[in-house]
Amino acid sequence: MPGKKKVAPKAVVSKPPSKPVEVKKDESDEPKLSKSYDLLRGFRDILSEDQGRWNLIRDTVRSIAEAYSFDRVDLPILERSELFNRTIGKGTDIIDKEMYTFTDPSNRSVAMRPEATASAARAYIGHGMLDRPQPVKMWYTGPMFRHDRPQAGRYRQFYQVGFESFGVDEPIVDAQLIVIGYKIFKDLGLDVKVQINSIGTTECRQAYLAELVAYFRQHRSKLSDDDKRRLQKNPLRILDSKEEVTRELLDGAPQILDWLDDKSKEHFMKVLEFLEEVEVPFVLNPYLVRGLDYYTHTVFEFVLADDEGTKAQSALGGGGRYDGLVELLGGRPTPACGFALGMERISRALEAKGINPLERPKPHVFFAQLGDASRRVGLKLFEDFRNAGVPIAEAFGKNSLKAQLDVANKLGVQFTLILGQKEVLDETIIIRDMESGAQEIVDVKKVVGLVKKKLRHEEGVDPIMQSPVETA
Ligand code: AMP
Repeated sequence: MPGKKKVAPKAVVSKPPSKPVEVKKDESDEPKLSKSYDLLRGFRDILSEDQGRWNLIRDTVRSIAEAYSFDRVDLPILERSELFNRTIGKGTDIIDKEMYTFTDPSNRSVAMRPEATASAARAYIGHGMLDRPQPVKMWYTGPMFRHDRPQAGRYRQFYQVGFESFGVDEPIVDAQLIVIGYKIFKDLGLDVKVQINSIGTTECRQAYLAELVAYFRQHRSKLSDDDKRRLQKNPLRILDSKEEVTRELLDGAPQILDWLDDKSKEHFMKVLEFLEEVEVPFVLNPYLVRGLDYYTHTVFEFVLADDEGTKAQSALGGGGRYDGLVELLGGRPTPACGFALGMERISRALEAKGINPLERPKPHVFFAQLGDASRRVGLKLFEDFRNAGVPIAEAFGKNSLKAQLDVANKLGVQFTLILGQKEVLDETIIIRDMESGAQEIVDVKKVVGLVKKKLRHEEGVDPIMQSPVETA
């Protein structure tokens, strides 16, 4: 550059810091690791062994969502922290100790979503969905993050599918959402029951809370520190305390159902009537309050039918009505209701029942090659089979025929196609029946059609649909 003196770049020598850099250690529960690339606690890889079940859950949810006219939305993982602080509320475990909150490079406080209902409400307001025909029904799936104490069925990153319905306050909306959740489990082959309660409106809850606090104050000395804190900060949460002493005290505690105003009672009774009508099994649980501040009226959880449902991590999903949420976020007052299911817990329940579908269709055909000329034909043939919808496997990286047949046997295919140098020259290919060992030489151009026909004939299996062929 003219006028500027070139400066030789200086070698950068990193000096050891005079004082050791202080590393904030918040992972007090982190096991002592020797390797630096181990998974973070509470995080996991979901490998292909489990993906069959995950696909089954995703497919089942998608088909139910379509049947009930819910539209798919994808919401961001990162949101302003305020969105959750405001809606989930102080005094809840999520806000007080579980959120992954940090300052982003623009100096904004952001959080990895601990749940997605608040995001759905934000999207509803932000995209002017108040002006669309109501209800606006959306569903989503994705990871959520809570820095909770990891244990079986409880992770720090976990996946949910959620359904939210905005704009209608009729009890049938609550009931239909419960039916949708129930049907998802039914279609998956899981027997669940619904635990249900009503926590009324904010107003009738105030009077109840005063009674509840007065009751537990008399027994304050028996409460754990955690429950004392709850009593002070968020007394409703004491109802889902897991402490033995508190649970015993609950027997004599005032019950929220007795404090509901007439409208709330009527709403709740109608929800229950609808559920009876469609024969969804439910159990009234006067202690069910759900952890989040924004719920009103109906709250519910899905638990396995043979589960007592006393452990927090036994719920497969839950939800409720949240009539105040949209207004709380600055929108027009809008009634709404929704639920979320935990995919890890559903996957675990499926596994316990031995339900483990294949991750992808099992190949019926294997292609074995001998040499590069054969590999070239194989690449193209592979595409021909794929286009015809017939799953085919190969081991292009192997050289010996024996090694390739071993793979074919392990995969349990019906036919192996063998292409040697002679067959390449003759434009033929060998079809080997893996069960009988019989081999026949056919025209390579006709092999896709022939194999398809053989598969239909042999198994009564449609190689494309992977289901029994209709014989009519
Ligand atoms: P919630 O948003 O807390 O109502 O949770 C709804 C459902 O998500 C629960 O019933 C669980 O099935 C699942 N879930 C919640 N927290 C976790 C977690 N930490 N790990 C795994 N699944 C969870």
